Amino acid sequence: MSVAFRIRCCLCRKNIPLAGDVIALDGEWQRRYPDMYGTLACERCVIDYGWACCATATGAFVDGHIAAPEDQVDVDSWSHHLERGTHRALVLTYPRSGLLQGAEPYLRWRAGHKDTDADVVTRLRTAIQEQGSSPAITT
Ligand SMILES: [Zn+2]
Ligand SMILES: [Zn+2]
Repeated sequence: MSVAFRIRCCLCRKNIPLAGDVIALDGEWQRRYPDMYGTLACERCVIDYGWACCATATGAFVDGHIAAPEDQVDVDSWSHHLERGTHRALVLTYPRSGLLQGAEPYLRWRAGHKDTDADVVTRLRTAIQEQGSSPAITT
């Protein structure tokens, strides 16, 4: 038994197809697309919104560039994917985005489920509490 949910893509705001992967994006994506709602994107948007190069013609990073995760060679938008995976896996890893983007019923259920790992429960409860104490989101 589980709780069904759909995630709205942080970029196109459409439901991410259940058959497709979800991609978690880093701070450089948020800097370039300040209207991003959460950080979980559909496969289509990481192509449509991606960029080919993080550097200017002189070879320096563009102004304000936020470094890619340490294990990535920092060249283009693909360097700035934090993780790729299933809907369930990614909302558990990135619960703040999950709560914003439509997975709240699932995350609340997982937070109270006896089979959920203790560290995951802690992470989920922290995110749920933070969400509860932040001002209402008006988007
Ligand atoms: Zn999208
Ligand atoms: Zn970069």
